[in-house]
Amino acid sequence: MDKERKLVIAGNWKMNKTVAEALALVRTLRRELGTVKEVDVIVCPPYTALSDVSKEIIDSNIRLGAQNMSENNFGAFTGEIAAGMLKEFSVRYVILGHSERRQFQNESDELIAKKTLAAHTASLKPIVCVGETLAQREGGETEKVVETQLRGCLHGLTKQQMEETILAYEPVWAIGTGKTATSQQAQEVHAFIRKVIASMFDANTARHVRIQYGGSVKPSNARELMGQPDVDGALVGGASLDDRSFVDIIKNSI
Ligand code: PEP
Repeated sequence: MDKERKLVIAGNWKMNKTVAEALALVRTLRRELGTVKEVDVIVCPPYTALSDVSKEIIDSNIRLGAQNMSENNFGAFTGEIAAGMLKEFSVRYVILGHSERRQFQNESDELIAKKTLAAHTASLKPIVCVGETLAQREGGETEKVVETQLRGCLHGLTKQQMEETILAYEPVWAIGTGKTATSQQAQEVHAFIRKVIASMFDANTARHVRIQYGGSVKPSNARELMGQPDVDGALVGGASLDDRSFVDIIKNSI
């Protein structure tokens, strides 16, 4: 598949996988995806598996991501993990502002903006998630919601930091529900996101930013979604827990 931007496909394992299970999964990914050059492949295990997974994928084409981080660098923040600590395990990416964290940990755009800047300061590439709920979509508010999230989470970035940020459009109603946005719905919002980035930064920056789609991506819908001009990859939850599904999503996207 000829794409303007290199595809980036990340697996968000959420709160799943023991160390042994994580290692079994990445061993298969490493074997099956060893020759894939067309896609940047990222796995985001829970913190407890980062160290072992990091050693397992060393010298491979699979990169490591975390699922969250603190906006602070160190100090009295019980239970938090700083960007510098992630870097000790060769983590290169970090998911920020996932809808589950917005919902269950009350993360605001303002907090996500601080985390995004802190990630860049530590040379971690953030994957910043945005997306509307079902009620917001049905109320015709998708663009307003997504634009507010983008402006709230990305202000203060330089153009270069913006280019190095990955965005993930994840309609909340499609996450873990089996309901995927149609490729047309995804393309419409992705094109809109690029327009907002152009107005916040400039057209050139917007052209370079990679925008993933997330929400019940599976092997059977990956090709059509990735075939959309403004869809530059996927953030995969459930289907990334199964080696065969994740491998097939990547192979079907090429
Ligand atoms: C996600 O949580 O980022 C996600 C897209 O989940 P799923 O693929 O299970 O819908």
